[in-house]
Amino acid sequence: MQRVTLTFDNGPDAEVTPRVLDILARRGIRSTFFVVGSKLVISRATSERAHAEGHWIGNHTWSHSIPFRDRGDVDFIQSEIDRTQQEIGMLAHPDRLFRPYGGKGRLDGSLNARAVKHLADGGYTCIVWNAVPGDFANHDGWVETALPQVATIDWPLVVLHDVHARAMQHLDRFLGRLQDRGTVFEQKFPPNCVAMNRGRQTDLLESGIVAN
Ligand SMILES: [Zn+2]
Repeated sequence: MQRVTLTFDNGPDAEVTPRVLDILARRGIRSTFFVVGSKLVISRATSERAHAEGHWIGNHTWSHSIPFRDRGDVDFIQSEIDRTQQEIGMLAHPDRLFRPYGGKGRLDGSLNARAVKHLADGGYTCIVWNAVPGDFANHDGWVETALPQVATIDWPLVVLHDVHARAMQHLDRFLGRLQDRGTVFEQKFPPNCVAMNRGRQTDLLESGIVAN
C-alpha cells in the first residue's frame, strides 16, 4: 500500500479548478491548493468552494514570477508572501502553508535566507515537493510520466496544476490508475517535503533549497 499526497498549484482558475474539485469529490480525495494571490482576487469563489469541501488552501506567492534565488529584497518577499496570505484570509490553513515558486519545478534556490527568516518570523509551514510529472509542459502525456515517477518514491507529494484544462482532462485517469494499484491518498504532507513547520526550520532546508 502506497501513500500519495496531491497538491494543485498556480490556481485558482474559474474554469479548471471546479472540474478538478468535481473529480476529487467523486473519488473522495482531499488535497491542497497552493494559490497565487493575484489569481485568488479574481476567482476567490473557486477557492472558497475548495475550502468548504475540505481541501487545504496554501500560499504560492502573489505574482508567481521570480524565484527568490533571483530576487531577494525584503519588499519583494513581503509582497509575494504577506499580500497573498492576507488575501487568503479566513481560507488559510492554521499552519499557514506556503510553497515557494521554483520556476519549472526547480527546488534549488526557491528560497533565500531573507525569505527563510521572513517565513520563520511569520510562523509559516513551508511545503516543497518530490514529484513533478510536468503536466504544465506535456498536457496529454504527463500521466505516463507520473505513474512510473510516483512508483519510485516512498511517499510522493505530487505537484499538479489546476490551470491547464487539457492536462486536467487526464486527472481522473491518473487517479483511477493509482486507486487500482491500492494507493491511499493522504492530505497531510510527507515529512521529507516539509522545509519549515510553523516557523521551525527542518533539516531539509540544509539541502540546497536556499540560495546563497
Ligand atoms: Zn507554481
